[in-house]
Amino acid sequence: MNDVRQPGSEYFASLFGGAPEGLWSAPGRVNLIGEHTDYNDGFAFPIAIDKRTTVAARARADRLLRVASISFPGVVEASLDGLDPDSLTGWAAYPLGVAWAMTQAAAGDGAASRLAGMDLALTSDVPAGAGLSSSAAVECAVALALNDLWELGLDRQELARIGQLAENRVVGAPTGIMDQSASLLGEPDHGILLDCQSLLTESVALGFASAGVGLLVIDTRTSHSHADGGYASRRRSCEDGARLLGVGSLRALGPDDLPRAAALLDGQTYRRVRHIITENQRVLDTVAALRTSGAAAIGPFLNESHLSMRDDFEISTPELDLAVSSAQELGAIGARMTGGGFGGAALALVRNDDAARVSAGIARTFARAGYTAPHVFPVAASGGARRDL
Ligand code: ADP
Ligand code: MG
Repeated sequence: MNDVRQPGSEYFASLFGGAPEGLWSAPGRVNLIGEHTDYNDGFAFPIAIDKRTTVAARARADRLLRVASISFPGVVEASLDGLDPDSLTGWAAYPLGVAWAMTQAAAGDGAASRLAGMDLALTSDVPAGAGLSSSAAVECAVALALNDLWELGLDRQELARIGQLAENRVVGAPTGIMDQSASLLGEPDHGILLDCQSLLTESVALGFASAGVGLLVIDTRTSHSHADGGYASRRRSCEDGARLLGVGSLRALGPDDLPRAAALLDGQTYRRVRHIITENQRVLDTVAALRTSGAAAIGPFLNESHLSMRDDFEISTPELDLAVSSAQELGAIGARMTGGGFGGAALALVRNDDAARVSAGIARTFARAGYTAPHVFPVAASGGARRDL
């Protein structure tokens, strides 16, 4: 048995005794480009990363669900028949929220008789709260395990919607479907081009391995208390802009519409709208550049994306700006903040030969600025959720 599987089985045995029926794992993700575009029906281009959450699972003879995570103390119990989306709280809302969402899907499919109680034990090396979607990793690993053990036969698109439903309805976070799509559909050295309007996805070769380049995550380990309010107000500005411009969503607009938008909208709303319109275009330009010119050609789109988030969408922070500018000065091919903003992580595309020097340089720059030491680490595009054992 290999090293990755062993800890999950051991942890399961220490809690529940005996061996699990199987191990399922799902990765976290980073968004290469396409920020705040999801709720505007636009494009995003995330990557499943080589950090995963594993669930060891075994069906029970009764209707009890027991979940545990090595990251949190205690075992949480719930009855399969009494799952209430309004009363699940804390970390267990993620796995039990998925179980609830799957019972809803099974009810519609007439598969309810195959549902059984379950013992579930989670282990993970996805850092939580660093913008790498540890939440989707939990949801997708659990969704895949329950889909197999309950023999529901749901496809990966349906499992992504189940993860999103758990997060929206049970956890109460108004997130799109990007994180779950990346976690379920990722492939090594590929990104997932996601059209948030049609929900169609396409796996796009990154060619990072052959180009000798890779991604560094620079987790600034900062988060700002106005993140939720900032997110809500950006969503509102986008909705206002779409309404004033007479479209259902900003997806309907392209760069040619910018002059009309400038004439119609107040300055701040215009800048919010300009970020979304240009960011959608940058996602498509990035994919086109990967296909025609290779990985080294996408740097300018990453850099422009950061400027757009800093100046037009105004969701960056001094720490994120410093992470990006120092990566660029140290020779990164491109860099941008990634995730919702107001803290969290930046991403730099670097030549593999430069990675150690860029990491050390960023750490020095942060120390000189008197900022919290960032956590800088490489991530590689990896395979999506799977059964490991
Ligand atoms: P992100 O998804 O960006 O890491 P979120 O706030 O969306 O941040 O999700 C983090 C939350 O997900 C954690 O606070 C915890 O409740 C839950 N979670 C993530 N990983 C695990 C895990 N391995 N075990 C249990 N809960 C987890
Ligand atoms: Mg999350």
